[in-house]
Parts: sequence; structure tokens; C-alpha cells
Amino acid sequence: MELSSQKIIDGMTDMVFVMRVDHQYERFIYEAINQKAKEELPLLSESIGLSIDEVNPPVLASILNYHYQKVLTTNEPIKYIDDYFVRENETKASETTLTPVFNHDVITHIVGVVKDITSLKQAEVQNERSKARLKQSRKRYKALFDENTDAIAYLNLSGDIIRMNNACRVFVQQFDQSGEDKNIFSLLKAGDLKLLLERFNEAKNQETVSVDLRHKTMDHVPIIIQVKFIPYVLDDQTEGIYCIIKDMTAEVTAKEALMQSEERFRLIAEHSSDLIQLVDHKEILLYASPSHESILGYDDQLLEQRSLLELVSDKHHTVLVKHFNRSKEKNETERFEVQLKTRDDRLQWFELQIEPIEDQNGRFNHFVVVGRDVEERKAYEEKLQYFAYHDPLTGVANRRLLSDRLEQVVAFYKRNQIPFAMIMIDIDDFKVINDDYGHDAGDVVIQEVAKRLQGSVREVDTVSRFGGDEFAILLPEIDTKENLSTVLVRIESMLQKPYLFSENNHFNIGISLGVYLHEDEQVDALSVLSQADHALYDAKRAGKNRTIIKS
Ligand code: GH3
Ligand code: MG
Repeated sequence: MELSSQKIIDGMTDMVFVMRVDHQYERFIYEAINQKAKEELPLLSESIGLSIDEVNPPVLASILNYHYQKVLTTNEPIKYIDDYFVRENETKASETTLTPVFNHDVITHIVGVVKDITSLKQAEVQNERSKARLKQSRKRYKALFDENTDAIAYLNLSGDIIRMNNACRVFVQQFDQSGEDKNIFSLLKAGDLKLLLERFNEAKNQETVSVDLRHKTMDHVPIIIQVKFIPYVLDDQTEGIYCIIKDMTAEVTAKEALMQSEERFRLIAEHSSDLIQLVDHKEILLYASPSHESILGYDDQLLEQRSLLELVSDKHHTVLVKHFNRSKEKNETERFEVQLKTRDDRLQWFELQIEPIEDQNGRFNHFVVVGRDVEERKAYEEKLQYFAYHDPLTGVANRRLLSDRLEQVVAFYKRNQIPFAMIMIDIDDFKVINDDYGHDAGDVVIQEVAKRLQGSVREVDTVSRFGGDEFAILLPEIDTKENLSTVLVRIESMLQKPYLFSENNHFNIGISLGVYLHEDEQVDALSVLSQADHALYDAKRAGKNRTIIKS
């Protein structure tokens, strides 16, 4: 090979091999290789003068021989694609052209030009990949569009439906069963068309907008739909509009019903004469009705976010928390009575009714508390309770309360043997007072006697009126007989004092007392009473205005 030719091939950026064909057309001998080939395949540097079989490993040699032989049989240039190893682990893609060189119709040489097409191949692979990806994204889009449960349509800029998904097809049928109407504005013409157009134009100006429309289906069923327009923009141009239509009827109706019920709640709460509260699970007041001001004296606004417990008498905190927890747990209304604190520190009885309220998902949300003032009823109940055990005229214990206490004292005696006494008292000739001064005057005397008796004994002793002009006193602990005498003397002297009616009108009365001091082990309540009664009877019989003691 001439030097100038070597220079030319060295200047080429592809690998060049000049191969001599031997006379038998069997072997291909490296005659020249260019610089590029030497760089890429250093093994070949020493190959000049050697054959393909001598230079390359057998498998590669047979592949190369096959291609070179093909040139000899076809007499034409051939092209093939192959990979070749450059260094360890690095392969390059190549495109080889083998061109025959003729000398008088005989092929003397074959020139191989090997082009590195690795980057070309890579680009091709890349291209394939992006094609696959595009296909995938189209598929995804189609699924998103077709399978979406929202009605989606793609509109051109006049509002004509170009494409729509199944949900949209079903939706549109409510307005046009023929399926011929393909324009969004003519389909939805019964609604607020002006508003819809306005929004559509905004979408054309590349804004995403939505509008709620009240509409009627072909069957005149009113529905509320939400129409959302999303512009599809390509290179700054709005190509079309995606339209998503949602039936909001159920949602909006539920919301409106809730607002109405909230409005109703507010109306009732604001004008109620009961206390109305909304309370959370930690007994924090979320709302307090204005009646808190008129009933308890608190500013309702200031109560919000404070604990309901602050309003409740300390002794009722536990009972309150217990009822709230139970109501929440069982999801049932609870009713109970507690005392609430007024602003000026009085306690007032209220009946609280608490009702647990759930959210849409059935989970506890808050309590509605209605508090009714039951102070009067409570007072009445207490009065009833009082009169069940007290004498209405004098306020001292009645026979029933005395009997109860006597039972207790008898039981106590059985355990401790502490002596006790029962005193029966009857006014002498009381009828005369009634006759002379009138029944009312008689009442005053009875009241005065009760008062004096109460003033003559200790707290633990029970003064009771047995009816008419008869009283009984139970003295549960008598340490000594002297002790009893002291009490009796005090009683007698108190009762002997004159009874005053008016400034100049006063008189004295005689009183008989029958006393039974119990020191005996065999005892029951009835016999105690009858023993005392006997003593009184004896006192009367003995001439009245005296005291007889039995034991
Ligand atoms: P004695 O000395 O035997 O006790 O004679 P007495 O007149 O006191 O008669 P007695 O105790 O048997 O009768 C009591 C009378 O008291 C009978 C009744 O008319 C009268 N009386 C009973 N309850 C009341 C009352 O609530 N108010 C008044 N003013 N009088 C009553
Ligand atoms: Mg009497």
C-alpha cells in the first residue's frame, strides 16, 4: 500500500480494513488498517500480512470469512450490522460495508469500512422506548377518560362534544334520549345558559372554572349539576375544553337540609327559656344559648370554649361526667338533675337532658344539652319530703319520724345498752283554751309548746307532735337518772312560763308528762311508747300538771 493511501485511510473516522484476497479465493489477508481501527482494536496492530484465521478467534474468524466470501460470490458490495468488543464489557454497534476491488474482473482486494453506529442504535432504542411510553400514557389517558365515573366530555371551542366517556353518555341521556344533540349548550339549555356561556369563555381564556346549575331532566326532575371546564392548551393555544359534569343533587340537598336544621336549631336555641348547649366529648361548651344570661347571669358568648363543669356544683361533677360518658357509649339520651352555679354563687336545680349527636358517618360528634329549671319543683319535692316526716303546724317531727328514730334507738340499745327515755306530754284542759280563746289561739299555744320543747332539749333528741295537744320527746342517751331529771326540770319550767296572746292577754297552762326510762334488756319500740303512755295516763289520773316517771 502506498503511503499516500495510508494517509487517506488514517484520516477517516470510520475503521478501514484493506484485505487482500489470495489466489484461491480462500483467505483474506490484512494489507492495511487505518489509525482508527488500530485505536479501537489494538490487537489488530500486528496483523499486517496475516490472515483473518490467524488474527481472530475461531468463531469471529468464521463470521468474518462468511461475509468476505459473500462479496466474492455476489461480486457486489455488502453491508451488515454487527457488534464488536472494544474493551472488556464494552460493545459497540457497527455497520460494516465490504466493497470489492477489481483488477481485470478479478477481485484482488476487499475494503471493509466499519462505521460505529452505537449512538445511532441508542437513539433508536430511546425512540422505541418513548414510543412505548407514549402508547402507555395514551392507554392510561383512555382508561382515565373512559372508565371515570364522572361524566367527562371533550368539547371544541363551540361547545360541540367531540368525545365523551360512558358516564357522560348516560348523563346526557337524561336530557336528550335520541343522542343526537352534541352541543353542551343546547343540552343544558334549560339551566342558566348565560352563566354557563360566561364560564365557558373564561375556560377558553385558559382558566379552569366551575359552575353549579339547577336544571330539569326530560322527565322534569329537578337536579343540581356541577359543570367544570378545563382548557386543553397546546403551544399557548386553547385547543379544546374538557368538561366534567357531576350530579350534585344529593350532596347539595343534604347540605341545604343541614343548613335548614341548623337554622331551626338556632331559632329554638336563641329564643328558648331553657338552657341550650352544644357540648363536646370533653364537656367543653361549643355553644350556650342566650338564656344563660337571663337564667344564670352569664354572658353566653363568654361561656363558649369553657368547661360545662365550671357551671356545675362541685358535688355533682362526678354524676355529670358519668351521664355524659354513658350517653356517648350507648348513644342514648340521658336525663338527670344537678345544681348549677349562678353568676352570683347561688346553686339552682336543673334537670339536664343530654342527647348524643352523630356525624354523617355515624361517629359521635357532640351533645345537645337542654337544661330545665326545676328549682321550684325540687323545693316542692323537698317540702313534700319534709311534711312526710314533720308536723305541718309546728314543724317538729311527726309520729312517723319519731317511730323511725325510736326503732334506731332500740337497735342501738341492743348493741350498746345505753339507757334512753321517752317523754309523753299532754296539755291539761286544752279544750278550754280552744273554747275560751278560739281554735286559732289553741294553735298558737300548740306552736309555742313545740317551740319551748325544742328549746329545752339537745340536737340529738327528737321532739315530735303526736296529734292534738300531745307531744313526745325521745332522749336517746341518758347517762344518769340525774341527767334525766335535769332535762325534765328544764322542760317543766319552760312550759310553765305564761303564754302571751296580746300585750295584756296572757295565761298559764298545766302540762302532764309521762316518762319512761329504759334500762331493761327486753325491749321493743311499741312497748316503749305504751309504757310512756301509761305514765302520762297516770299523771293525768293523779290530778294533771305533774310528771310521772316509769322505768
Ligand atoms: P286533758 O287535760 O285530759 O288532756 O283534756 P284536754 O281538754 O286537753 O283534752 P284532750 O287532750 O283529750 O283533747 C285535745 C283537744 O285538742 C281535742 C281537740 O279539740 C283539740 N285539738 C286537737 N287538735 C287541735 C289543733 O290542731 N288545734 C287546736 N286548736 N285544737 C286541737
Ligand atoms: Mg290534753
